[in-house]
Amino acid sequence: MSHILDGRTLALKMKEVLKGEVEQLIALYKHTPSIVSMTVGDEAAAAMYVNAQKRMAEYLGIRYTLKNFSPTVSQDEILYYINQLNSDPNVTGVMIQTPLPKQMNHQVLVDAIDPHKDIEGVSVVNMGKLVFSSSTIVPCTAASALHLIKSSGLNLRGKEAVIVGRSEIVGKPLSFLLLQENATVTICHSGTSEAGKLVDHLKRADIVVGAVGKPNFIQGHWIKEGAVVIDVGINDVNGKIVGDVEFESAAQRAAFITPVPGGVGPVTVLMLMKNCCEAFKLQWGK
Ligand code: NAP
Repeated sequence: MSHILDGRTLALKMKEVLKGEVEQLIALYKHTPSIVSMTVGDEAAAAMYVNAQKRMAEYLGIRYTLKNFSPTVSQDEILYYINQLNSDPNVTGVMIQTPLPKQMNHQVLVDAIDPHKDIEGVSVVNMGKLVFSSSTIVPCTAASALHLIKSSGLNLRGKEAVIVGRSEIVGKPLSFLLLQENATVTICHSGTSEAGKLVDHLKRADIVVGAVGKPNFIQGHWIKEGAVVIDVGINDVNGKIVGDVEFESAAQRAAFITPVPGGVGPVTVLMLMKNCCEAFKLQWGK
């Protein structure tokens, strides 16, 4: 039976460290870090994330402002607003919640944010810096997954890491973070499954990351004995939240495993706040 990598406990520790850091930043620069978060249209769709971010920001002493646009707003109007935020010294971090209306291009909006204010770390500039290992603002979910892997105490050098899912916010950035830690990284996707090779990759993995978005997709008997298993998935099955990994059977084989809920999610919101502190230092640091 495996050890549980408890994201809530990890988040509690991080929270106190970050609170101290925010206090120091405010004392040093006589200025308060702040986040402006945008939603377009139906506010309810992102409400769970927005509320968790707002609560955490305010606990840490970071100002959090929500700007909701009507569903009929044009992309140009949002771009104009982002430009205003970019030139406002009182705004530290800018983010755009999804989902967005179909006529909007999320990446175009994100790339309009000053890279020093892109606290989600998903603009082409920050992703490019990640490739060159020179980034301080890293996509939050990927950073959270890495933090949980490291909390197992595993030395990552030369270990086989298999990530299932290649999205811009999880799989791709995590692959670069794991490479920086000297792991040997494989990214699997739908093509891997179609070729019938997914199970072979997973069976040799010392580290498994599930970021697929399909409930219980990764079966427990595919996991190598002693592996570290990180489940990024959040899937609603008849009102119950489950991950991408079959938890009970995977826990019989893994040395460490994250639960869903209570694994990656609680750490991710703190990574966002950590990015806000990094952004603040980039903007105000001498
Ligand atoms: P996404 O953009 O939908 O990407 C899903 C990935 O899974 C794609 O790369 C896709 O492959 C791959 N995939 C789909 N079916 C597959 C199959 N049969 N075999 C192998 N790979 C397959 O998802 P995402 O945004 O990365 O999110 C993934 C999950 O993480 C979701 O459940 C999401 O809710 C959750 N999430 C959690 C957090 C958190 O803080 N805990 C944050 C973000 C996301 P192709 O590229 O070939 O289509």
